[in-house]
Amino acid sequence: MEKKRVVIVGGGAGGIILANSLNQKDFDVTILDKSDTQVFQPAFLYAAFMGKEVPTKKIPKLIKKGIKFKLDPVKKVDLTNKKVFTEGGEYAYDYIVVATGTMSDASTVSGLKEIDDKYGDYHTSIENAQRVWKNLNSFKGGTIVLGQASPICKCPPSPIEGVLLTEMLINRRKLKDRTKLVFFTPYPRAYSAEPINNVVEPIMKERGIQIMTFFDLDHIDANTLYSLEGDQIKFDLPIIIPPFKGAKIDYEPKTVLDDDRFIKTDKFNMRIQGFDDAFAIGDATNIPTSKAGVGAHLEAKIVANILQGKEDKFDGRTNCPFDLGYGKGTFVIGSYDQPVVPYPPSRLNHFEKMMMEKIYWSSLKGTFDFIFNLYFRHTDPIKLNKKFSK
Ligand SMILES: Cc1cc2nc3c(=O)[nH]c(=O)nc-3n(C[C@H](O)[C@H](O)[C@H](O)COP(=O)(O)OP(=O)(O)OC[C@H]3O[C@@H](n4cnc5c(N)ncnc54)[C@H](O)[C@@H]3O)c2cc1C
Repeated sequence: MEKKRVVIVGGGAGGIILANSLNQKDFDVTILDKSDTQVFQPAFLYAAFMGKEVPTKKIPKLIKKGIKFKLDPVKKVDLTNKKVFTEGGEYAYDYIVVATGTMSDASTVSGLKEIDDKYGDYHTSIENAQRVWKNLNSFKGGTIVLGQASPICKCPPSPIEGVLLTEMLINRRKLKDRTKLVFFTPYPRAYSAEPINNVVEPIMKERGIQIMTFFDLDHIDANTLYSLEGDQIKFDLPIIIPPFKGAKIDYEPKTVLDDDRFIKTDKFNMRIQGFDDAFAIGDATNIPTSKAGVGAHLEAKIVANILQGKEDKFDGRTNCPFDLGYGKGTFVIGSYDQPVVPYPPSRLNHFEKMMMEKIYWSSLKGTFDFIFNLYFRHTDPIKLNKKFSK
């Protein structure tokens, strides 16, 4: 039987895991990416708030022998005629999997681009994260404001992780009595899911962080943030997470994209709405889960199973490590039908977050699948909610 051609658009976390999970006896796999380098994005946090290096690796080094990689930016995906158009040419497919992640778009908030250019951020590039670190280093006192400019954010714990690590840095530099730390969010509470908010908000308050909820960033003028709700925050140093949208790729039909260019995807089988031979995984989709590497990982495995003829269904599982500073951490663990667990902070959780970087590259190749499966069973949200929810 002839091999089926699978084109994967995007060689990030999800795209690589999927490619490495497919049986090459049955599939001819091609990955298309606009970059030949994968960046370990969770390390942006430690580059911005601790001055650490961000690990990167060339995509061809991360894929199994036999998988084709093309450095070729994708311009259009024609789902009706099963073709992908790139800067370099076109590719026909039997199956397509879109794994293009998400990209920042500062243009929706007036004044944000200028702020981002000057002060950086810790969600978009190594250079921007290094800019945050540089500014924090020269900070001598005043008001630091940190928050997310829109409800959609890569890694939902990361805004609060950022403000907690800022507090730790300011405290260690003995600048606490000269600094006001303000955290803003469009949500009604510091962390959107109440059970984990009940764990982290008291910690934020105890460390003197002022929390501004219902703050939908409307515009920035000179040194003041203005919200749609009519509130204002004056700042000396802003650290703002820009709004996120889907990749800039045209689709035929256009109707598979939502207003923010995310792909309308079935939340259980990851098929692109209306197409049996097209799938989307990871941050590129509009499914109601966190935009996180762990989701991209689990969804890639679901699509690999479906393509290989096994029945499978995504349960919306999240498992995001959450750095609380001072060597402690928690996790955001939930699923479509299980509320987020009020997971108690511990040093072990923090250690597990630090281990993520050590095992990340091998996990893309499937080396730790056995351990992951055991870990996911051990941290099942049904079991954990019984244990920790009152
Ligand atoms: C500060 C921070 C902390 C984080 N912490 C965690 C964490 O603790 N745990 C966790 O699970 N996740 C975390 N994440 C999130 C995680 O990094 C992402 O969710 C994950 O990388 C998403 O994988 P993906 O495959 O969907 O997209 P990506 O890994 O972003 O890959 C998308 C790929 O598509 C390519 N692409 C885009 N457009 C085109 C085009 N037009 N043509 C060709 N190729 C294209 C890109 O070049 C890229 O290689 C964090 C992220 C940040 C920013």
